[in-house]
Amino acid sequence: MKILRTVAELRQWSREERNDGGNTIGLVPTMGALHAGHASLIRAACASVGYVAVSIFVNPTQFGPNEDYARYPRTFEADCALAKAEGADVVFAPPVEELYPDGAATFVEVEGLSQRLDGASRPGHFRGVATVVAKLLIASEADRAFFGQKDAAQVAVLRRMVADLRLAAEIVVCPIVREPDGLALSSRNLYLSQTERTQALALSRAVRQVEALVAGGERRAEALVAAARQTISAEPDVRVDYTELVNWATLEPVEIAAPGSLFAVAAWVGATRLIDNTVLA
Ligand code: AMP
Repeated sequence: MKILRTVAELRQWSREERNDGGNTIGLVPTMGALHAGHASLIRAACASVGYVAVSIFVNPTQFGPNEDYARYPRTFEADCALAKAEGADVVFAPPVEELYPDGAATFVEVEGLSQRLDGASRPGHFRGVATVVAKLLIASEADRAFFGQKDAAQVAVLRRMVADLRLAAEIVVCPIVREPDGLALSSRNLYLSQTERTQALALSRAVRQVEALVAGGERRAEALVAAARQTISAEPDVRVDYTELVNWATLEPVEIAAPGSLFAVAAWVGATRLIDNTVLA
């Protein structure tokens, strides 16, 4: 497995491996601190395309001024070992100046969608995400890019971006990987104390409850959202950021659940903000 540091190297690798169109290239964008959720994306990529690049880049522009950019976990050696074990051909780990050269002034803004869900509580977050993913897709010339449903609002923003910019890459969405007790895997779970780790189960509990209510015939967003909020509030140290039932493409709230509606939740467990969701059957 190669480790590449510059856009020029990544583009050259992609073009060589593509071999006059005979091979397909996959990209798995990550911020590192890789876990079994990331591993599932790399495996899905390896099963679907000829050559796979995993990018590891803690993207400064998607963090707000009071967020965890500086202390975000950085575990590069272990990440490379995981990427290699899962079959990645390349790890692309550029320094910040490579993706944001001195004086960089170009950003991708997906209007509307970027202000909803996580975008409402994290102003500028999706602008940073869209910008870095556009840069990575352009640099890698990937045919397919693999993302987790865990970040469901991000998926909606990126689908819109790819459609609007007429980018060549196809977006592939992979299921949420969970711990045996239901907690969705996240690099930020590393921040949780043992007590917080238990409290954090309120999110997946709320998601499962919504699934059960829908299976039992409840369709009203108001009832589903209220039930989820109540479940989360039962953990006194967990603070809800949002619980919403939305159209997954537009992220606009819906009043009645339909197949494909997204139920999403974000909550603070101590100083750590976690998210979870389900796409209704
Ligand atoms: P991150 O490193 O947090 O930016 O995540 C990189 C990619 O991994 C994103 O597409 C995430 O949605 C995906 N991902 C993160 N956690 C999980 C999970 N538990 N299951 C599946 N995919 C995940």
